[in-house]
Amino acid sequence: MKMWEKNIRRVVPYVPGDQPSGDRLIKLNTNENPYPPAPGVEKALREMDYDRLRKYPDPAARALTGSLAEYYGVGTDQVFVGVGSDDVLAMAFLTFFNSSKPVLFPDVTYSFYKVWAELFGIPYETPALDDDFRICGADYYRENGGVIFPNPNAPTGLLLGLDQVEDIVWHNQDVVVIVDEAYIDFGGDSALPLLERYENLLVVQTFSKARSMAGMRIGFAIGNPSLIRALNDVKYSYNSYTMNMPSLVLGAESVKDERYFRNTVAKIVDTRERAKSRLRRLGFSFPDSMSNFIFARHETAPASELFEALKERQIYVRYFAQPRLENYLRITIGTDEEMEELYHFLEDYLKR
Ligand SMILES: *Cc1c(COP(=O)(O)O)cnc(C)c1O
Repeated sequence: MKMWEKNIRRVVPYVPGDQPSGDRLIKLNTNENPYPPAPGVEKALREMDYDRLRKYPDPAARALTGSLAEYYGVGTDQVFVGVGSDDVLAMAFLTFFNSSKPVLFPDVTYSFYKVWAELFGIPYETPALDDDFRICGADYYRENGGVIFPNPNAPTGLLLGLDQVEDIVWHNQDVVVIVDEAYIDFGGDSALPLLERYENLLVVQTFSKARSMAGMRIGFAIGNPSLIRALNDVKYSYNSYTMNMPSLVLGAESVKDERYFRNTVAKIVDTRERAKSRLRRLGFSFPDSMSNFIFARHETAPASELFEALKERQIYVRYFAQPRLENYLRITIGTDEEMEELYHFLEDYLKR
């Protein structure tokens, strides 16, 4: 080993799903929205003031925090925005999880949590989901340095009711509790109303899933002004201009079109519910997803083989070669046409 190599920080990075390119490809592997962003976003993109790229964007991202504050009925001092919720969550780990006690998150959950904890040297423990992949609230009653979980959870798609979320927050009023609501718009009750009662709660959401803007990279957190101030202090100690000008303009534009947003989400929810009965008939079983994906196993066909066969046919789904997950596929809900192609392929494949 060279001397300088001794000073390199060694980390095991998060591995995102493939972003393959091709004509006939059906991409059901990274929980993107199959529908385009709201029409107003396209218009704003076409009409964008090119000269503004010359200047730095607003470091306070007011165009976006303002429209989110209005939409969710909170103060502008209660909103923090970042480069996707990954950026918001990483910043929140850095800001709020500074205890010597372990941060708690489920053993089966968004795998980035572990990566950030390792990167920032944050101690953590991972209470196991039960045999049905459910989060057990009581596992989070013990002393800890903070709590984070997605609701609905990923990759299971299982939703906690608002009473169960509140129960976890109620038992953890001495630490910051983060609820990662990346998929909440697909059928759950947001924890946002709890903000009135719990100043230690931070709710994180994203434009990547329900708002069809994964490519733009916009995420946000809503919480008590003192939490938001702390997040901003850390952000300004790291990079003042996390949000580029187009994302501020286009993000704000997207928030304006409530009707389009509700429509798109409703279409995906319909397709998801139909997918449940189609997949069940094909011999799959799965937790009852309230997100835009289904985490399914087949009664006879091993997931790893199905994954490869689907990929061969240019249908991409997500496979996790991990204990407890190795016989499951996470299938993003696409358009009805894409899902039909999936079912047809599976029908043929499983007949063999
Ligand atoms: C997709 C996802 C995110 C991150 O999404 P961004 O694209 O970074 O906004 C965060 N948490 C969970 C659970 C997710 O599935």
